[in-house]
Order: sequence, then structure tokens, then C-alpha cells
Amino acid sequence: MVRSKMQKCKDCGAYGLSTTCKKCGGTAQAAGPLKFSPQDPQAKRRREYQKVTDPKWVENLPSPKVEEE
Ligand SMILES: [Zn+2]
Repeated sequence: MVRSKMQKCKDCGAYGLSTTCKKCGGTAQAAGPLKFSPQDPQAKRRREYQKVTDPKWVENLPSPKVEEE
């Protein structure tokens, strides 16, 4: 399944609609970021997938670096 229609080649940077580059035969991936919706209809499923309710999940989050004095 392709994330978005426009694909960009990782090797030569050519744009196309296929996940294989027509110019060099390299791998192409989505050229733009995933569509974002503030309503986020998949949020509940994603939270379940990432096990957000698990206490250990918090440890996986990136935290700002605390400067030591
Ligand atoms: Zn290419």
C-alpha cells in the first residue's frame, strides 16, 4: 500500500507515481508527509497500537535535555 500517490526516488530524486524509479530503478517513497487531520479518526486505534495506557510507554517518549549545573 502506497502512502501517497506522488513518490520520490531515494537514489536519484526523480518524481513519479510508482514505488520503483523509472529512471534508475531505485526505490521511491512518498514525496510528502502523511495527511493530517485535527479530528484524527484513527487516533484511538493508534493509541491502542502503541499501548499508550501502559506505564512503560512514558519512558519511550523523548524528553528535553536537562542541563546540569
Ligand atoms: Zn531514481
